[in-house]
Amino acid sequence: MIKTVGILGAGQLARMLAQAGQSMGLKFIFLDPAEDACAAELGTHICAGWDDETALKQLAQGSDVVTFDFENVPESSASLIESLCPVYPPPRALYKSQDRLREKTMMQELGIEVAPFYPVSSRPELLAAVEKIGLPCVLKTRRFGYDGKGQAVLRFREDMERAWQQLGDFELICEGFVSFQSECSIIAARGRDGQTVFWPLTHNLHRGGVLAISMVPAFDAQLQKRAETMIQSLLDHLDYTGVMALELFLVEGELLANEFAPRVHNSGHWTIDGAHTSQFENHLRAICGLPLGDASLSSPSVMFNLLGEMPAFARQQSADSHSKLNLHWHDYHKTPREGRKIGHVTLTAGSESELKGMSAQLAGELGVAAELDFEAIMTKSRA
Ligand code: AMP
Repeated sequence: MIKTVGILGAGQLARMLAQAGQSMGLKFIFLDPAEDACAAELGTHICAGWDDETALKQLAQGSDVVTFDFENVPESSASLIESLCPVYPPPRALYKSQDRLREKTMMQELGIEVAPFYPVSSRPELLAAVEKIGLPCVLKTRRFGYDGKGQAVLRFREDMERAWQQLGDFELICEGFVSFQSECSIIAARGRDGQTVFWPLTHNLHRGGVLAISMVPAFDAQLQKRAETMIQSLLDHLDYTGVMALELFLVEGELLANEFAPRVHNSGHWTIDGAHTSQFENHLRAICGLPLGDASLSSPSVMFNLLGEMPAFARQQSADSHSKLNLHWHDYHKTPREGRKIGHVTLTAGSESELKGMSAQLAGELGVAAELDFEAIMTKSRA
């Protein structure tokens, strides 16, 4: 029986895994180089680098199973742990997701539709890629990009040199620019026995490349089925165990894949309060070899990421008008810093129409309404 789960990484995803695991009677060990890692207070923290062999062995020897809260763990570290202790998701999934070229090639081979793409490692290759794809297109680093970092949109030929100056020191990929109607993600959990459950397709809004809002329900059953088929082929191909998220673009009624994350995902935070079983509990169930819980919606939900610092009214909601709303605040206990993800709030409602009105009010309070034109977005996801 699994008693102790080791996690490479002790950020907010590890923290939410540990919170879900506490009621399951699990204990946690984290390895993370950050002294103030926010999950540390929920278990034992080994403060060491990702490639520190002694620390990796200590993690593996103290754990019954090891998992990740981020995907850029060196392959050699994942392999070292795997030689001592079961590791889920399989390190092969990490390896594929760490490099956009490998990732997109695999998706294409599996018949999952993606925007056209070419590897770029020189100015002539950039020129050739732009000629084949056409403008606009997006130049991205193959590795270590997140939240829109390490990428540049090329709209005119003159943008090529600027983008090369910015990114040319790295191995790159050039992709077609997708004029999407909306962005969404499908999150699934696959058990060790292959049992798979899917959460409802989530509508996501980004601000400055960073996820700002996720909402459900937002799409019809047909689109849900198509997204499930796409992620199922990835899960089966990788003989995957655990939670995976697949980020998608909706374009003229069709879904195009952008990237997958071999871990629990920010766009699934609403599942803590709005689904019968959260992504965090099901990830733990999967890696511990337990049957998976029901991933269906329990309440229409909207999640707002909180960046920088927790809003003052988060602490006094019982004393003001928000006491009437079903607000679920999650404070990651991180030191506030501009642009840093320090928490999230999920609003749940009894019906979609109730959710719509209450979301607009909360978006206003959080100061995101004007920039995101919340009403239009809620309507657009249905278009
Ligand atoms: P990524 O790091 O690939 O997840 O990209 C971050 C965000 O940039 C996405 O959520 C999209 O909003 C945008 N983006 C990424 N790739 C493309 C693309 N090929 N076309 C249009 N927008 C994109």
